[in-house]
Amino acid sequence: MSSNPLDAAGLRSALVGSLVLPGEPGWDEARQAFQLAVDQRPDAVVLAASPSDVVATVNAARAAGLRVAAQSTGHNAGPLGALDGTVLLRTSGLTGITENPGAGTVRVEAGVIWGDLTAAVARHGLVGLAGTSPTVGVVGYTLGGGLSWLGRRYGLAANHVVSADVVTADGVARHIDAKSDPELFWAIRGGGGSFAVVTALEIALVRTPDLHGGVLFFPLERASEVLHAWRDWTATVPDAVTSIGRILRFPPVPDIPEEVRGQSFVVVELVSLLGQQESDELLAPLRALGPVMDSVRPSSPVELAAIHMDPLVPVRAAGDGFLLTDLPSDALDAFLSVAGPGEDFPLLGTEIRHLGGAFAPDPAKGGAVTGFDAGYFVFSAALTTDELSVKAAHLALDRLCEALRPWGAATSYLNLAERPGGAPFADEATLDRLRRVKALYDPADLVRGNHPVEPARTAG
Ligand SMILES: Cc1cc2nc3c(=O)[nH]c(=O)nc-3n(C[C@H](O)[C@H](O)[C@H](O)COP(=O)(O)OP(=O)(O)OC[C@H]3O[C@@H](n4cnc5c(N)ncnc54)[C@H](O)[C@@H]3O)c2cc1C
Repeated sequence: MSSNPLDAAGLRSALVGSLVLPGEPGWDEARQAFQLAVDQRPDAVVLAASPSDVVATVNAARAAGLRVAAQSTGHNAGPLGALDGTVLLRTSGLTGITENPGAGTVRVEAGVIWGDLTAAVARHGLVGLAGTSPTVGVVGYTLGGGLSWLGRRYGLAANHVVSADVVTADGVARHIDAKSDPELFWAIRGGGGSFAVVTALEIALVRTPDLHGGVLFFPLERASEVLHAWRDWTATVPDAVTSIGRILRFPPVPDIPEEVRGQSFVVVELVSLLGQQESDELLAPLRALGPVMDSVRPSSPVELAAIHMDPLVPVRAAGDGFLLTDLPSDALDAFLSVAGPGEDFPLLGTEIRHLGGAFAPDPAKGGAVTGFDAGYFVFSAALTTDELSVKAAHLALDRLCEALRPWGAATSYLNLAERPGGAPFADEATLDRLRRVKALYDPADLVRGNHPVEPARTAG
């Protein structure tokens, strides 16, 4: 790409970190996302080492007529699409974590991953609203919403952001909160990464409650009985319990732990914020079904990150998710008719997350997304080896989505939407407002989120 319009020498001299251009040493490593199935080919990659690198990158890209895509881990790189005309701004080098235990908050830079944040604040008896995976980026996850194990009690992570440091498309570094920049601050809480590049978030934590977590494993053949019992059970549990009903088909590969390698299960994964006795009482109906393995026990916040068995190293994967308004018995049967035992379903894990509780929308929480008009969320993912296996996974996902269409919600959840397009992630009124915020702060659409929000066109 000799016709690269970027002033590479100028940008290089302004950076604390580094600029990597196509073909230069380190290019493949610099452009590689955690999601190995995605082949990112931007015009350039900046490996930011300081917030000032973000300012320099935004200014250099704007001058060259290029766009900027911020990325920390690349977990959700799938929907970004082709990166022609784009500088990929990797933030994984921005790893500062500043705890403020007195205020119950933490400031995290844009490259911090959840495992590191959880460990840092646990020593103060505090916990953030992490999702299932310790390798996911705090900022990307939080901008998109953030469905946590603690979420039925405390809601979405996005609604716990206190302030943010951002660089807007005009190259200005701003410290924003609900008072200083109400519209921009509203948009980044759930609206994703289209509005500005975030260099740090200040996040409110919660005092670590009693935590019990783990997995009940049953043979896959019992999927209908177990998932129906789990569905009935979810209608009875308080918001202190967040759970997932899931089908797991572990491939016979060495990366999978020996005790489950090559086997298939139906499982219930859960976290309870109640004490031992209450947790045991609540779990009794599920334990009465006789799991073959039961790992539910008192857990530390760090241990919660192992429950979902998410990959800890980059993998080739294909997945997608969608919201269900509700999960009546018929919907569960439809789920099983596609993903259940005896079906030719090539995905490794297919789950139904229980929402409700504090996941219900509440505009008073502030933020573009404050919850979901949906009772459950379905997500499924496969480990893939090549284009053919990606295609097979996507076809199977389409079948699952089709079977559950009668119960599908009108909106989707941005963080776990891993394919481009699909259902809009917000209702029309929210999308309109997001587009107006985008037009205000980034009318030329320089900042490129993986789930884009285009600037509203101004009348006349
Ligand atoms: C194994 C696994 C488990 C998961 N579990 C959960 C879960 O339990 N709950 C849940 O809610 N989600 C979950 N997710 C989804 C996850 O929240 C999304 O993939 C999220 O987008 C990842 O953020 P990231 O920064 O790691 O990824 P990236 O791909 O680096 O970022 C995703 C997008 O976030 C935006 N972004 C990132 N950094 C910045 C920045 N500094 N400034 C502006 N925009 C930025 C960009 O639009 C970027 O394209 C899971 C994903 C995986 C792979």
